[in-house]
Amino acid sequence: MFIVLLGPPGAGKGTQAEIISQKLSIPHISSGDLFRENLKNDTELGKQARAFMDSGKLVPDEITISMVADRLSRKDCKLGALLDGFPRTPFQASELDKILKADGNSINCVPYIMVSDRDLLERLTGRWTCKAAGHIYHEKFNPSKNSGICDIDGSPLYQRDDDKKETIEKRLAVFHEQTSPLVEYYREKNLLVEVDGTQPIEKVSEALLKTVRAFE
Ligand code: ADP
Ligand code: AMP
Repeated sequence: MFIVLLGPPGAGKGTQAEIISQKLSIPHISSGDLFRENLKNDTELGKQARAFMDSGKLVPDEITISMVADRLSRKDCKLGALLDGFPRTPFQASELDKILKADGNSINCVPYIMVSDRDLLERLTGRWTCKAAGHIYHEKFNPSKNSGICDIDGSPLYQRDDDKKETIEKRLAVFHEQTSPLVEYYREKNLLVEVDGTQPIEKVSEALLKTVRAFE
């Protein structure tokens, strides 16, 4: 199954992808995580992406699309993948269609996790991420057992540079301008399913699993 998780920054895509990719036994591919890995390793790609990420803008397509295409070409994606944060523009979406089609694949469904901008700001300013593997917490809604330490691998938690109020506002504006047209793009293809993202994490997972299993 190839699934695109759509939703604004902070909707819970990464949190849900961690849970449901395990249940569906398909890899979780987050373009944001791929970029952050490149930043951490100080690669050429990381150097090119940094200024865009720091200012809350989209990284240009020529960098982003080849990075994701490369990840999708790996063996573990032969039977499916759960995409989070990609595509983010109609152009990226049509390129993704081509990449999948070249292997005889296509997108099975696109759950759209809906949350209001006011809630998103609170979620992103309170988000804590694990240094080692990107596991996601929230100081109020999903705290780690020991403050500042990841429950899963014991690594320190940090706040992302782009989770500052001004950058969050820019990222939300970018979502409304550049990414939200994808809602209609996928609705027209009968792939879009709206999911209420304001419910507790477990309830959103249940709704998502029910949604994707209906498309299996
Ligand atoms: P995204 O990947 O869409 O940017 P995340 O999964 O990183 O979003 O979630 C953003 C923040 O909101 C994190 O701190 C996460 O713990 C928290 N969060 C995720 N889902 C929920 C939820 N259903 N209710 C409350 N907080 C949530
Ligand atoms: P995310 O982890 O999804 O919140 O993404 C963090 C940042 O990485 C974004 O604000 C962008 O700068 C960049 N990014 C991630 N995915 C994409 C994408 N599909 N297209 C362009 N830029 C992206």
